[in-house]
Order: sequence, then structure tokens, then C-alpha cells
Amino acid sequence: MCGIVGFTGAQSAAPILLEGLKKLEYRGYDSAGIAVMDERKIAVHKVTGRIANLCEKTQDGLGVTGMTGIGHTRWATHGAPTEENAHPHLSNDGKFAVVHNGIIENYLSLREELIHDGYHFESETDTEVIVHLIEMFYRGNVREALIRTTNRLRGSYALGVICSEEPGKIYAVREASPLILGIGIGENYFASDVTALVNHTRNVIYLEDGEFAELSSESIKIFDCSGQAVDRRPTRILWDVQAAEKGGYEHFMLKEIMEQPGAVKATIAPRIRNGRVAFEELGLSAEELQGIRKIIITACGSAYYAGCSGKYAIEKLCRIPVEVELASEIRYSDPIIDEHTLLIVISQSGETADTIAALKECKARGAKTLAIVNVVGSSVAKLADYTIYTWAGPEIAVATTKGYTTQVAVLYMLAVYIAERLGKIEGKEKQLIRALQDLPRRIQQAFDLNSSIPALAKKYHASKSIFFIGRNTDYAVALEGALKLKEISYLHAEAYAAGELKHGTIALIEEHQPVVALCCNPSIMEKTLSNIVEVKSRGAEVLALTFRNNQKILSVADDFLFIPDVDSLFSAIVEIVPLQLLAYYVARENGCDIDKPKNLAKSVTVE
Ligand code: GLU
Repeated sequence: MCGIVGFTGAQSAAPILLEGLKKLEYRGYDSAGIAVMDERKIAVHKVTGRIANLCEKTQDGLGVTGMTGIGHTRWATHGAPTEENAHPHLSNDGKFAVVHNGIIENYLSLREELIHDGYHFESETDTEVIVHLIEMFYRGNVREALIRTTNRLRGSYALGVICSEEPGKIYAVREASPLILGIGIGENYFASDVTALVNHTRNVIYLEDGEFAELSSESIKIFDCSGQAVDRRPTRILWDVQAAEKGGYEHFMLKEIMEQPGAVKATIAPRIRNGRVAFEELGLSAEELQGIRKIIITACGSAYYAGCSGKYAIEKLCRIPVEVELASEIRYSDPIIDEHTLLIVISQSGETADTIAALKECKARGAKTLAIVNVVGSSVAKLADYTIYTWAGPEIAVATTKGYTTQVAVLYMLAVYIAERLGKIEGKEKQLIRALQDLPRRIQQAFDLNSSIPALAKKYHASKSIFFIGRNTDYAVALEGALKLKEISYLHAEAYAAGELKHGTIALIEEHQPVVALCCNPSIMEKTLSNIVEVKSRGAEVLALTFRNNQKILSVADDFLFIPDVDSLFSAIVEIVPLQLLAYYVARENGCDIDKPKNLAKSVTVE
């Protein structure tokens, strides 16, 4: 998920690899390493933390000889961010070094198989199975070994590989993770994105999924999984470097919004096995699950709102009461907790001070604790009894998008997991699993349905305040939708349970007051519709978020955001997408610093 670089040519590789890795730093990482081949020997250097540490360890690369090498910045998904887990990983015979971005979904079974065959593992990563497979399949032909290896892999991977028996060659493989080849003069490169290449060349080749490349200083050969040569014309890069970092998007936030189908898929897909949700990381026995009387979800900000959405799914499927509490409140509230309480804490960074304190407080009172976290090895992950990672990859924009949706995805899976183990969803498992697997596609459709958002933003951006209303699951999404708008556009936005309007807030509705009405839950659609009529008759301008062909809503609201058909149990994860885009485009209209909103920090490590 982070960065890969590769170099082969007629100059020292290490300084070039280090420089390339520095260019990829913006992607976020926790450790780094390089492998450089000199004659027929591969030397590996790895560190935790910054590239600066790697520079120090290798005297800026000058202490490493060799003109062929690969480098990596790691964003840990499997195994803590330690030196052992940092890439490159070596084969047992020392002939191969591998760097990998992505996730190998079937690594557990491969690992068992390889251990059984006598291979020895040095790390906890999913990646290490790759290098042992290559060693196992190698019979003097690296290409063939790579093809046979990838035949066994499931998941996403961009790979960089070197082999001590082929000095001067670097190999690249791509499947659902970016990798770009750079064409130099008497030297060639690969990297996860063009930022690491543009100082050397602007002539690049975009490797496609399922393709392999063999690079030497003089040639680049691309082939497919049957070994057939692929002919690909180079592209000339005309972007400036800053645009390249953002993958061509104007802001990291938009890039991350667009990454959501992939991030949600990376979070869900590896955990669905044999038609069931499999959480190996959750060691609760059937009896322990049976013994849970209450679930408390605690978090801050968007993670708290993710909890609000998750509550509906868990209660509906598991019939266990769920309380969602702000971490900053529960820590001082003398909470009623015992060993029959399951505490779920949610934090993207895993370093949120209030969340850590709430976790400690509730754990001390006897709760079983489960963390939902994005950053592997973070404080929350270390403190909780169990941790489920959201494999969203690094999030750079301060306002969370893919962090939030992957948290919601984990809560949905958890609801199905617990309910199934408690025997609460007999006969419905298949349908629920299919609905979970379908979510990335639904999120993608939500993009396709909402091309009018930039125009809507032009209409609404100058409003003084915007109300968001919805009931039940729609209300939970309204809370996050309003927060997004506040955070990045500085517009006053407030979410209300639609039924609460007439108990006070309706006094604020006047001519042209914008109201975003969420109507994606068929069970209470009619009720929300009445609320829309109430605000309309007081002059409000209603922007409705609903299904494409919802005639009833189409006939009363002024403007529309759409979602595709999706089960209301799991709809929050799709509903939020148009609201994220609305917030983004309103902020853009207002000229705000979208990726770094004023007064906000990505990881709030103070109380
Ligand atoms: N899944 C691999 C690991 O945890 C690679 C992570 C990455 O893409 O940086 O080591």
C-alpha cells in the first residue's frame, strides 16, 4: 500500500533507491528498506521509522555497493512495524529479495504449506510467503518462478524482485496495486508512482494488472501470465510532481474518496472465507460470545459516527443492546461495565488520546476489548485484547473518508460474524455475505450516479448553514455528512433526527434554508417524507439523498443526490459517499485548504 522503487543501471543503486523512497514518503509509511545486489550477493538494510534512519544506516547509500536494487516503504498490514517485518524479505537460500505493496489474502494457508515443506519464516508478514514460493518454484528461470508464484497468490500485489543468479536484472509484477516502469538511458526503473521517477525520466510504462516486467540497464521486457511478450508504448509524463503525488487528483481528500471501493474491498474480501465472515484476529470463543450482554462502542469524531451506523446493524442482527459513547465522555462517566460487556473502540490512527483513555478505563472495569484500527502496531491496537485492522491504507487528508467507510465495513462484518456464531441469522447468511461482498461495487455506482454534485455545490456553497435530517440509519449518516461539511468547508452544518425537528429546530427553518434530507431507509421513508414536507412548507430548499427511482421523494424535493439500490442494513457506507463529495466540492467552491483544514489535526493525541 505504500511505496516500491527499483533501479538497474551503471551507477550505484542505493542513493537512487533512497532518493526514490523519499519521494514516496508523502504516502505514509512506518518502516523502510533496500536490497542491493553486488556481483552475486544481495545485501539488505532495513529500519523502522523514517527514511532518514535508512540514510544514516547506509551513509546515504554510499556504504552500499552494487548497481541493481529494490527499495520499499511499508505501511504495515500484517505484523507490527518492526525491523523484521520491514521489506525486502529474503528467501531462505538468500538468492531472492522481494518487496511487496498490498495484501496477500490467502497467506495463512500458504504459510502453513511452506512451513510444512521446510521453509523458515523470519517475519509475521503476509509478504514473506511470496519469496519462499519463488524459491520453491525456481528452476533456473526467474520468469517461470514468478508466474508460478503468482498463480498461487490471491489479493493485491505490486512486487519488486531481484535474484542473485541474474545480476543486473530487476523484476516487477502488478496485480491490483500500482507499479510504473521508468525508461532511462542505460538505466531503468520502477516505482509505485511517477513522483519517484520524474527526476530521472518522464518516459514511463504503466504496467497493467496481471503483467510482469524484466528490466536490465538496456531493456524492458513485459510479459503476461502465460509468458507471452506484451507490447506497450511508453507514455510521456506531463504532470508536475505535486499533481503526481495526488495521482492526478487536485486533493488527497478526493483521491481518498475515490479509493473507497478498493479500500472497502481490501477490508472485506480477505475476511470472507467459505461463505462466512472469518476474523482470525478475534479470539472470542462461542461461550464468550454467548456471554455478551451489552456492547459499548466508543470513539471520537467520524469514528464515533461510524459506531452510530454500526449500532443499527449489530442490534438488528445480533439482538444485543449497543450503546455508542463519545470517548471523551465515557472516560469520566463512571461507566457500568463488567465482564459481560464487549467494548469496541474505533480509531483510524490508533493514537487518539481520548480513545486510549476510554479503552484503559473500560478494560480496568472488566470489559473484553476489541479495537478497530487502521494503523498496525498503534497504541490502541496494543492495548486492546483483540484488534481488527481496517485495511484502508494511509490516509493523508485530515478529514477522514476511506478511514470512516472501512470502519463501518468492519462493524457490518462484525454484526454478521457475531450473529452467525450466535445462530441468529440462520438461512440468511448467504444473502448477507453477498450484500457485504457487493458493497465496493455499490460505492463505485454511487460515484457514477452523482455527476451533478459540483453543480449543486455551486448552488449551496454560499449558504450560512445547512441542516441534515434523517431517521434511524439515515440519521447516523447525516451526523457524519454534517461533520464532513463543517470540517472542510467551515460552513455551519447540523444533523437532526428528522422526527426531532418539530421539537425545536423547526423554528430555524425559513425561506431558502438548505436542508439535506436522507431518505435511504425504506422502513421509515414515509415518515421522513412528512418531515420534508414540513420544512418545504416553511420555505426550505431540500436536497434529498435517495434511490434513483424513488418517485415519492422526486416529486417533493428540489435537488437530488442518489445512491444505488442497497440493503438499508448496510446502506450507510454507500450513502456517505455523495455527502463526502458534496462537502468536498462546497469546500472547493469556497477556496478552503481541503487537505489541511484550519485548527484540525489528523491524529488527536491530546485530551
Ligand atoms: N502486507 C504487507 C505487509 O504488511 C505489505 C504492506 C505494504 O503495502 O506496505 O508487510
